[in-house]
Amino acid sequence: MKASIPYAIGGFPLFEHDVFSENRFPLRVKSGLAFSGSCTKAESRPVRRVMAEAPGLLRGKRGLILGVANSRSLAWGIAKACRAQGADLAFTYQGEPIKKRVEPLAAQLGARVFGHCDVADPATIDAVFETARELWGSLDFVVHAIAYSDKDQLDGRYVDTTPDNFNKTLLVSCYSFTAVAQRAEKMMPRGGSMLTLTYYGSEKWIPHYNVMGIAKAALEASVRYLAADLGTKNIRVNAISSGPIKTLAAAGVGDFRYILKWNEQNSPLRRNVSVEDVGEAAVFLLSDMSRSVTAEILHVDAGYNIIGMKHPEAPDIDITIAKEIAKE
Ligand code: NAD
Repeated sequence: MKASIPYAIGGFPLFEHDVFSENRFPLRVKSGLAFSGSCTKAESRPVRRVMAEAPGLLRGKRGLILGVANSRSLAWGIAKACRAQGADLAFTYQGEPIKKRVEPLAAQLGARVFGHCDVADPATIDAVFETARELWGSLDFVVHAIAYSDKDQLDGRYVDTTPDNFNKTLLVSCYSFTAVAQRAEKMMPRGGSMLTLTYYGSEKWIPHYNVMGIAKAALEASVRYLAADLGTKNIRVNAISSGPIKTLAAAGVGDFRYILKWNEQNSPLRRNVSVEDVGEAAVFLLSDMSRSVTAEILHVDAGYNIIGMKHPEAPDIDITIAKEIAKE
């Protein structure tokens, strides 16, 4: 089979989507420079170095991203990284105030906006997927970056969680991923990749994370159950467990700056992570590079999840000091 190679700006070739899915590896290039013409399937070889450097890992793929609120959102970091790798994107927004922020961001990436989606209202999820079906017909990936809990209960003790907030938190932050997966499955006839976002507060106690920690534990279990259900259709389901990042949602967690400072000073890499770090890890999970990875919770947290105790060299900080540092 002959396959032509389109050229990218910057000297690296952009590979056609069907070349990736049929051959699994990009066509051979010499010293990172594209050669002209075409080559046969037999001539193709795994060239992992080039694959890591070349743009276009998501070229030809269409992805729906739920959860962009503003330019600090993890979903925005993921969107930028996916677009940089050639994906065609669509966003949703939750309500008019967020629409005003999402539309200009979508324009920056040439992305579509598929409308309002409140995951607590199934009709709005249906409407978004109907729009996706009409405009795109099928989907290659979906990103779920949505969480909500009453701010008053992300402070103090978990034991004081009310039944109403427990239900709402689990519905919006956990079940909604399953609701999205039900609809996305029908639009992935050739397989696909589903990704959600979680946090270490699902595995270990984190101050004030409370009911959100329970929701994230259930979300991570859903990743495994969804992966088992959808694997036979070549649909992969994974999560990124991100380190703490200052976003709108994170601002609702009590003493979040203290959590940030503690992570920065004690993680193996001695720093916090950015939405760009999360975005580039997401590209791996959404692309064919991770074709054999499913049901995985990938920690993108500068290694913090392996820490059992404060590092002896890390300064002692308490909440008061962390607040002072944050003001500087
Ligand atoms: P964010 O505030 O930028 O994004 C949260 C999004 O959830 C918003 O777009 C909001 O509109 C959406 N949302 C909330 N309720 C909704 C509903 N009923 N229907 C539809 N959308 C709804 O914050 P973020 O930190 O980027 O959060 C994205 C995801 O990343 C969340 O799942 C969060 O738990 C997770 N996460 C965040 C951090 C962090 O430190 N920021 C760390 C690990 C995981």
